[in-house]
Amino acid sequence: MTDSKLYIYNTLKRERELFVPQHAPFVGMYLCGPTVYSSPHLGNARGPITFDVLFRYLTFLGYKVRYVRNITDVGHLENDADEGEDKISKKARLDKLEPMEIVQLYTVAYHDIMRQLNILPPSIEPRASGHIIEQILMIEKIIEHGYAYVSEGSVYFDVKSFEKDYPYGELSGRITDDLQSNTRELDGQSEKHNPLDFALWKKASPEHIMHWPSPWSEGFPGWHIECSAMSAKYLGETFDIHGGGMDLLFPHHECEIAQSLGANGKQPVRYWMHNNMLTINGQKMGKSLNNFIMLHELFSGKHHLLEKAYSPMTLRFCMLQSQYRNPIDFSNKGLQDAEKAYEKLSGIYLLLKEMNWDGTSINPETEKTLSSFEDECIDAMNDDINTAIVLSNMFKVSSVVNQFNTSGKTEGVSKENFEKFKKTYCTFFTDILGLLPEANTAQGNEEFGKLVDSLLEVRNEAKKKKDFTLADAIRNTLSKFVTLQDTPEKTNWKYEKKK
Ligand code: ZN
Repeated sequence: MTDSKLYIYNTLKRERELFVPQHAPFVGMYLCGPTVYSSPHLGNARGPITFDVLFRYLTFLGYKVRYVRNITDVGHLENDADEGEDKISKKARLDKLEPMEIVQLYTVAYHDIMRQLNILPPSIEPRASGHIIEQILMIEKIIEHGYAYVSEGSVYFDVKSFEKDYPYGELSGRITDDLQSNTRELDGQSEKHNPLDFALWKKASPEHIMHWPSPWSEGFPGWHIECSAMSAKYLGETFDIHGGGMDLLFPHHECEIAQSLGANGKQPVRYWMHNNMLTINGQKMGKSLNNFIMLHELFSGKHHLLEKAYSPMTLRFCMLQSQYRNPIDFSNKGLQDAEKAYEKLSGIYLLLKEMNWDGTSINPETEKTLSSFEDECIDAMNDDINTAIVLSNMFKVSSVVNQFNTSGKTEGVSKENFEKFKKTYCTFFTDILGLLPEANTAQGNEEFGKLVDSLLEVRNEAKKKKDFTLADAIRNTLSKFVTLQDTPEKTNWKYEKKK
């Protein structure tokens, strides 16, 4: 365990706080996962990438993290409301499939995208439909405590009676009076006592395909209760970190807090963390704006807004260039800049990985640049996971690595310092930021590398035998694909996209 001091911004407290787990070295962390009724889009990537980096960093610090990320496969109704069709049932009806076929199809698609983005699988990935009993038990407790009522076979959370004992709206900073005036008046037909009340259990209408028996009706759980029930089951009634996108602050996370307080009398979460949203060419992403980009479209380049395909690692890199609480705007220009920057750092990583210390002197400036690298990266991560600063630190040391490569010697740095720097750089690049040199870039492709190395060997042999015609022919051919640089000891090569 390190004594590193990690500060994170707690959305509930509205301040940066020192992170102290309740049961160190164990850390419990929950992220609201996807509702699996469509292919993942650009907006679905930021949360998982943000919390993947946090998961990786906490592990690096020595914590034993239990990371729960759920799959919502029931109860999430259209427009995130209490009325309307279930998103999954609707898709099943339109595609003439079983709801669980839809769930399976899009869970597989989601996992595939997560793998391409090098996002580690969570420790537990519970599904809402697999935890109906836990949800029913939690609703019973809330009713028992007087914070929910049954109406026409459905159960609603009673915000007014809850507010007599606890504050409501603290997380999102919404005041119930404001909420009240912004909410449509009930039409007298409503089952709710108050427009702010939200569904814990809904009685299924005859055409609703997904339903389960309960003490109140044949029906299905509300959207918010699944996260409260599953996080409590796997992480305890109070756990360390709950993450999600800022769009979930209200109503989803606000309702989670109310449900957990209502059932267990305890604040469920010690640190609430929310990642900011993204825009496309300065506009909010939306179906009506025709700017919805699915991730498979981004990776294939098949979308009217895209000039070309962008790789999963380019996307990951692009997201990490902003600290998670800042908004990100996507544009072709931004993605192409990110692609170039990523290729540059990736190239540095690959050079460094193969480099061994062979210096003969110390240059105080080089020594200082490399020895402060680790602390600078850790300080940036401890400052509310500032991946943007980590990346800029990596750029700062690029020139030193390039210089080592050009001169063919790791001159100016002590062995100990070089080894530590190399280890830190590689650990941050792959283990913490989760970046991988891509298999489809030539530099990252092992087979390609072996081929170049073998050809260089043949060229060397030719040179030794003074067959300069052959040596030059090999050099000219290779130069079409890679940049070569001859040093007295060996020939270095670097893959660069040729125009
Ligand atoms: Zn949730």
